[in-house]
Amino acid sequence: MRMSNMLNLTMREVPAEAEIASHQLMLRAGLMRKMASGVYNYMPLGLKVLKNIEDIVREEMNKTGAQEFLASALLPAELWQESGRWYAYGPEMFRLKDRNNRDFCLGPTHEEVFTDIARQEIKSYRQLPLNLYQIQTKYRDERRPRFGVMRSREFIMKDAYSFDKDVAGLDVSYNKMHDAYVSIFNRCGLDVKCVEADSGAIGGSNSAEFMVKSEVGEDDVVFCTSCDYAANIEKAVTTAEKAEREELLETLKVETPDVKTIDDLVAFFHTNAKKFAKTLIYNADGKIVAVMVRGDRGVNETKVSNALGGVVELQMASVEQVEAATSAQVGFAGPIGLKVEELLVDNEVANMYNFIVGANKTGYHIINVNYKRDFEGTVGDFRNIEEGEKCPHCGESITISRGTEVGHIFKLGTKYSAPMGANFIDENGEPKALEMGCYGIGINRTMASIIEQHHDENGIVWPLSVAPYHVSIVVAVVKNDEQMKVAEDIYNKLRAMNIEVLLDDRDERAGVKFKDADLIGAPMRITVGKKISEGKVEFKLRNSSEVEVIGLDEVYNKISEEFKSNNIKL
Ligand code: ATP
Ligand code: MG
Repeated sequence: MRMSNMLNLTMREVPAEAEIASHQLMLRAGLMRKMASGVYNYMPLGLKVLKNIEDIVREEMNKTGAQEFLASALLPAELWQESGRWYAYGPEMFRLKDRNNRDFCLGPTHEEVFTDIARQEIKSYRQLPLNLYQIQTKYRDERRPRFGVMRSREFIMKDAYSFDKDVAGLDVSYNKMHDAYVSIFNRCGLDVKCVEADSGAIGGSNSAEFMVKSEVGEDDVVFCTSCDYAANIEKAVTTAEKAEREELLETLKVETPDVKTIDDLVAFFHTNAKKFAKTLIYNADGKIVAVMVRGDRGVNETKVSNALGGVVELQMASVEQVEAATSAQVGFAGPIGLKVEELLVDNEVANMYNFIVGANKTGYHIINVNYKRDFEGTVGDFRNIEEGEKCPHCGESITISRGTEVGHIFKLGTKYSAPMGANFIDENGEPKALEMGCYGIGINRTMASIIEQHHDENGIVWPLSVAPYHVSIVVAVVKNDEQMKVAEDIYNKLRAMNIEVLLDDRDERAGVKFKDADLIGAPMRITVGKKISEGKVEFKLRNSSEVEVIGLDEVYNKISEEFKSNNIKL
């Protein structure tokens, strides 16, 4: 591409709307532009990167024997009503009606669609195993679109669905996808960790996420400092800290005026937060429930939602709802005499002695409360694990880092095939539900994550594998005929070698062109300038500050070597 012909969109200033490096750089390098909240248009440079990532994904998926499909993004409500998700998906689903008042949605994901394809097309075990995938646009009306294309409302996903005759087959399909994902992210130059993930109300360790460690990530990822345990905090299992055994004392209602927060309570009772159990009241799809955790702990809303059988919207209850449940002002909730549909009690609280809770009476708390003797509920793991706690696998301590999910692999089993009647005839002539898996990669989020991991203060530093252009040729003085002629010559020869080249033939100062080249981030730069009179040009890698002066005849070797050392075939 000649820059003189290109719609150049580079910007020097940092756009105020963009908080994180990848978002700023995608705007500054001109990869994309915003159209509405969470809705973006891809400009030519951005599109080239998306296509490069898609090609890597496609190659690795095809290697596993998966077949590419393309389903519609406009989906009839009936399919979703059949699976029950028309109601369960909640406000994240974009819903619309056609001219005949029929309900449709814009697909946020495609389990129903591929289950429907399978039930129509798969009849016999002889057709199995099968893996169908697509690279397609998804729509989700995210509560909080943010960080540019990291969390947008329209995005491109590679989604794959595997179909097997039994659980052993599903294991094989799942592991193949795991390995393909490792290769895909490796080739994209992304450092990812595969971590155990929440699999919703299905339970079990049937799901894993590919996480990029990142300070701007929206997930908390738990890593063991000793073994290889890694899990999303939503999933990470906690070990209850054992409280020291005490004689059970008699409960006592104590007046605690103006004492509302845990800090106030700690000061008032001259004790520590471990002696309190807090009772939080939630609205779970219209059902009022309470969750108890130790005073210094945090509720894990994913674990709570799963325990309640899969909640769509878990929200803190309103002031009115809290007052109705406790018959008191906010701040005095406790388990005794509480009016809720379900009380979930964290393991740790069930093991505490003589603790302090709200009295469900304004201005009062109850001391010396003990589980079982004074109240009962559903006991389980309902809290977040914390930095330094025990690893559930080996008992050593864990640490927590922020991460961004770029891919997700999931064993669905018969969750969709059974209710939707996606059956096949097995070896014994019996009908059986298909064992399914689903596997997603966010293409745009992968692109943004690559930039997060590969940039410096001057711009993007693309890995060669996904770069929009492999080489930038900067012509120092365009009006110098010799410089221009040599640059054109290199440009044409490189293109004939299948190399993507950006020729900066604009009548601009060399400094401006270097700045743009750095911002756009092609991995290699060739500068054709004064030294051309000696038959020499400058060669520079974007990820190094070293500038090499090389002979014209060395250019092609140098560039080919770079491809070779990155394991990329030309
Ligand atoms: P998150 O927890 O970030 O909302 P998710 O669990 O909803 O992700 P999946 O349904 O597993 O995501 O989707 C598969 C992949 O699609 C994710 O791994 C991610 O890379 C990508 N993805 C999901 N939501 C978005 C979004 N709003 N914008 C961009 N990419 C997304
Ligand atoms: Mg989501």
